[in-house]
Amino acid sequence: MSLENELNHTLKKLKDIESALNESSIVAITDHKGKIQFANDKFCEISKYSREELIGKDHRMINSDHHSKEFIKSLWKTIKKGEVWRGEFKNKAKDGTYYWVETTIVPFLDEKGNPYQFVSIRHDITERKRMEEHMQDMAYLDPLTLLPNRNSLNKRISDGHMTNKLNDHVAVLFLDLDRFKSINDRHGHMIGDLLLKEVGQRLVGCLPHTGFLSRQGGDEFVIMLDQINNKQEVVSVIQNIERQLSFPFYIRNKKISISASIGVSMEYITTKSPNYQEFIESLMKEANHAMYQSKQQGGHTYFFSTPKQSFEMARNYQLQREIEKAFELNEYYLVYQPLVNLENGEVEGAEALLRWKNATLGMVSAAEFIPMLEEMGHIIPVGRWVISSACKQLKNWQNSGYHLNKVSVNVSPIQFRDAYFVNDIKRILEETMLDPKYLELEITEGVLLNIEVARKTLVKLKELGVNISIDDFGTGYSSLSYLKHLPVDTIKIDKSFIHELGVDGEIIVNTIINLGRNLQFTVIAEGIENESQVTALQQQKCDIGQGYFFSKPVHAKQFITELTCNKNIAN
Ligand code: C2E
Ligand code: MG
Ligand code: MG
Repeated sequence: MSLENELNHTLKKLKDIESALNESSIVAITDHKGKIQFANDKFCEISKYSREELIGKDHRMINSDHHSKEFIKSLWKTIKKGEVWRGEFKNKAKDGTYYWVETTIVPFLDEKGNPYQFVSIRHDITERKRMEEHMQDMAYLDPLTLLPNRNSLNKRISDGHMTNKLNDHVAVLFLDLDRFKSINDRHGHMIGDLLLKEVGQRLVGCLPHTGFLSRQGGDEFVIMLDQINNKQEVVSVIQNIERQLSFPFYIRNKKISISASIGVSMEYITTKSPNYQEFIESLMKEANHAMYQSKQQGGHTYFFSTPKQSFEMARNYQLQREIEKAFELNEYYLVYQPLVNLENGEVEGAEALLRWKNATLGMVSAAEFIPMLEEMGHIIPVGRWVISSACKQLKNWQNSGYHLNKVSVNVSPIQFRDAYFVNDIKRILEETMLDPKYLELEITEGVLLNIEVARKTLVKLKELGVNISIDDFGTGYSSLSYLKHLPVDTIKIDKSFIHELGVDGEIIVNTIINLGRNLQFTVIAEGIENESQVTALQQQKCDIGQGYFFSKPVHAKQFITELTCNKNIAN
């Protein structure tokens, strides 16, 4: 380095120092190895060391263990290059207390470009840091019990806080107090709150050192246990909790007894475990589910979630995630199953059935995904799409000259109860220009439980001119007298009765057909799989048949091909 360069370098450094300095500055100078050469009064004051104790000592004597190795490494990397480092540092004073400083370290380089001295200027920011920490604590603390709150648990999970090693078990305990609401109602919320506080304290006393307790809200607590070796360890924690809770609480001179329902899930950490957060979240769900089982048993007990449940929950979780995108990704489609006139063998129409093919899960059965669509509220838009597509399809077929006079679609009870349902149907009919008499809506007996509400909707639907059919007839355990009073056109005998034809199902099928005839309904038999069933139904004068014997549900194109190849499929 030339003299001029060196001077410029020093001047620039002095400017850095000057701009960082004021009367409250804590200043120290060390050599290149970090040995303290100079410390001002403020330095002595905050570090609580005398100047004699500092000079000649390694500067690291005031380091705390707060900062990571990476943090320290990157600091050294910066100053060894001759660059100024600025940042916040937690230091330790002589008496073991900690203080925070905002730090500027200015390195001085020799002619070879190696640092020979470091000047550090610090300012005390302990107060500000304390405030920040306090605010953070508050965000992660349940104000009532002063236990970690749900945020805190979530943070711990998302930080991947894991003292666990591979092949360790992790257990999650979901704990919900039994009949807590009645305690609140009987003794008031104040007592309820104090009880929760004391329960929290007793739970803390039951935790092993790897345990983490948080209050989820209400009377729910979650305990995470790391480094578990076997189920027995978890059971003893639970037994301890149950014992501790079995002693009555005395709150404001009131003796209160309480018990808890506990659900547990535990799992190995393996290399196959997905990311830690997902892994724990699914454990939480399982534990929650197991807790509900305890409740169903009347509470005051615990349940471990079984591998089968875990599997089902994991599957449900995955289904839910995939369903969220299924509509946008056009993963739904319809298949059609012919409705065959049993007298002349002609195909009169089709039932439209929804199918879902997902990129990762493959085909998912209707029995599995439809209840989930209902649970997630997606059945309304998807159901609307089904009806609209089916109507369009029939209109297309009719326009192409096929004499089909019925398309039936399944309507979920949730759709049926939706305030916009009748309007949606009206709009779809207008848009597709399908004559309403060709559309049949299949509802289940479950819809009719609230008969007065159902009646109103059915009447409005009839006013539109569509047909109503009762699907899976005979399985709903509802009173038959409703049939007389409702505007129903068709009943579909459930396939379970058809499958018993030839065993001992004749009487039931016969009865339903007679009932239908007397009330002037069209009767459809579904699930017909063989010729003898067809014959039996023909003898009993059932109107329409549907089932694998005629055709499985198929794509629209195939439906038409089969229809034209095999016009009289029943004969
Ligand atoms: P569902 O309305 O009673 O439909 C008849 C079911 O029986 C269909 O099952 C059909 O594939 C099946 N099936 C037809 N012929 C035979 C046969 O000969 N033997 C046997 N064993 N089964 C036969 P899928 O398609 O799996 O649908 C199951 C249920 O899912 C339907 O029962 C219906 O309740 C519901 N579903 C299907 N599509 C929709 C839809 O678009 N919306 C709503 N809400 N529900 C739907
Ligand atoms: Mg149906
Ligand atoms: Mg059915």
